[in-house]
Amino acid sequence: MTKFDFDLFVIGGGSGGVRCARIAAGHGARVGIAEQRFWGGTCVNVGCVPKKLMVLAAGYGPAADDARGFGWDTRRGSHDWGGFIATKDAEIARLNTIYVKLLAGAGVETFEAHAQFLDPHTLDVGGRRVTAERIVIATGGHPHRPDLPGAEHAAVSDDIFHLTAMPKRIAILGSGYIAVEFAGIFAGLGAAVDLIFRQHHPLRGFDEDLREALAEAMATQGIRLHAARLPRRIEAKGAARVVHLDDGGAVTADFALLALGRTPNLRGLGLDRAGVRANERHAIVVDAEWRTNVPHIHAIGDVTDRINLTPVAIAEGHTLADLLFGALPGRSWSFAAVASAVFSSPPIGTVGLTEAQAAAHGPADVYLSRFTPMRHTLSGRPLKTMMKLIVDQASDRVVGAHMLGEDAPEIIQGLAVAITAGATKRDFDRTIGIHPTAAEEFVTLRTRTRAVGVAAAAD
Ligand code: NDP
Repeated sequence: MTKFDFDLFVIGGGSGGVRCARIAAGHGARVGIAEQRFWGGTCVNVGCVPKKLMVLAAGYGPAADDARGFGWDTRRGSHDWGGFIATKDAEIARLNTIYVKLLAGAGVETFEAHAQFLDPHTLDVGGRRVTAERIVIATGGHPHRPDLPGAEHAAVSDDIFHLTAMPKRIAILGSGYIAVEFAGIFAGLGAAVDLIFRQHHPLRGFDEDLREALAEAMATQGIRLHAARLPRRIEAKGAARVVHLDDGGAVTADFALLALGRTPNLRGLGLDRAGVRANERHAIVVDAEWRTNVPHIHAIGDVTDRINLTPVAIAEGHTLADLLFGALPGRSWSFAAVASAVFSSPPIGTVGLTEAQAAAHGPADVYLSRFTPMRHTLSGRPLKTMMKLIVDQASDRVVGAHMLGEDAPEIIQGLAVAITAGATKRDFDRTIGIHPTAAEEFVTLRTRTRAVGVAAAAD
C-alpha cells in the first residue's frame, strides 16, 4: 500500500478522463475521478453527440424536398423544436448514466464535485481532502467569449442545446467547426442564417478547395456569407440582436451565436499550488507522455489545446493509463494523420496534408473531382460533391484525402486507415471500386489535375 488515498486521481469526467480512469482501474490501480458538471463532458452533453442529433434533425427538411424528385408527394411541414429537444435530452441522460455505470463497473470511485489542488499530491474534492500518487488533468475547455461590446447579448454553443424555441433568424460569428456546423443545422431547419467571419472563406487551415466548395454550397443553400468582416458590437433591440460590422453594415437576427474558438478549463484548479505551468494560450504544456512540468501530474485532451477532438482525448487517456499502470506495452495510436469531420451541410471529411502543406514539403500531385451526386441528379438541388487526393511524388504515397459531400465523414474514415498504413496512389488505383457510389471516385481518379511544390523541392 502506498501512503496515498489513490494511485491515480482524474480531474474531469469527459471522454478522455473517463477512458483514462477506466483503463487504469482495469490495470489494478486505485482510481478516483471528479466531475463537477456532467459525465461525458462536452462531447456527450453540449458537443459532438447532441450536435450530430441536430444535424440529423436538420437533414429531414431538405430530404423531404429532395424526395419529390423521386416521385414522393412530400412537403416539409413544420418542425417541433420543443419535442425534438426533449427527445434529445432523454437520449443524453441515458448516455450520462452509461458513463457512470462504466466507471462503477471498472471499480473507479466517482465524485460529483469540483476538484482543486491544495499541493502537488493533494486535492480538495468538494470539501473532501484526497491524496493521489498521480493526477491527470482532463478538464476540457469552454467556448471563448471575446472582449466585444455587447457580447453578453450573444449566446455560445453550450446555450444552443437548451433553447426553448428555434430562432427564425440567426447570426453566427466565426467560421470554424462550430460556426459552419450550426449554420448548416439552422439552415436545414428553415432559419435565415448569416455567417460573419474574418477570412475570405470559412474553415481556415482546411484545404483551400474544400473551403471554396463549402462556401459555394452554403451560398447555394441560402446561407448569407459575410466574408472578410469583423464584428464591432452586438446590440440588443428588444428581442432582436443587431451585429454591427466593421464596414458599417449590420445584421439583424433573433439570436447571435459566438463561435469564436474554445479556451482550456483551468480556472479554479489551483494549478499554482501544484506548480503546474500553462502557456500563453492558457493551455497546459505536456511532453510526449502527457507529463506536465510536474512529473507525476499529467494532462490530456482539450485542456492541452493541441488536437481538440474527442477520439484524440480518448486515445490519449487510454495510452496514458497503459503507460502508467499497464504491464505490457499498451495499445498504440498514430497521431500523425488524424482524420476529422465537419458536420456542415454537406459534411466534410478530411485526413492528412492539405495541398498547401504538401506543396511546402516537396513535389506532389493533386487529383481533384467535382460532380453532381446521384441524389441531386433527380432532386434538382444544385449541390456538388468534391473529392481530392494529394500524392507525394517521391514516394507515391497518398498524403492527403479531402471530401465535401454526402457521407464524407464515413468515407474518409476508411481512407484514414489506408493513409495511416502508408498506401500509395498505385494501391488506390489497383483497388476495385464499389458501384454506384461516390466513394468509388477515390479509386478511379486517374488524371492528375496539377502538380505542386516543385519549387520547394528545388531548394
Ligand atoms: P475554431 O478554432 O475552429 O474556430 C474559431 C473561429 O473563430 C475561426 O473562424 C476564427 O477565425 C474565429 N475567431 C477567433 N477569434 C476571433 C476574433 N477575435 N474575431 C473574429 N473571429 C475570430 O473554434 P470552434 O469554436 O469552431 O471549435 C473549437 C474546436 O472544437 C475546434 O477547433 C475543434 O477542435 C473542436 N470541434 C470539433 C468538431 C468536429 O470534430 N466536428 C465540432 C466542433 C468543435 P480565424 O479562422 O480567422 O482565426
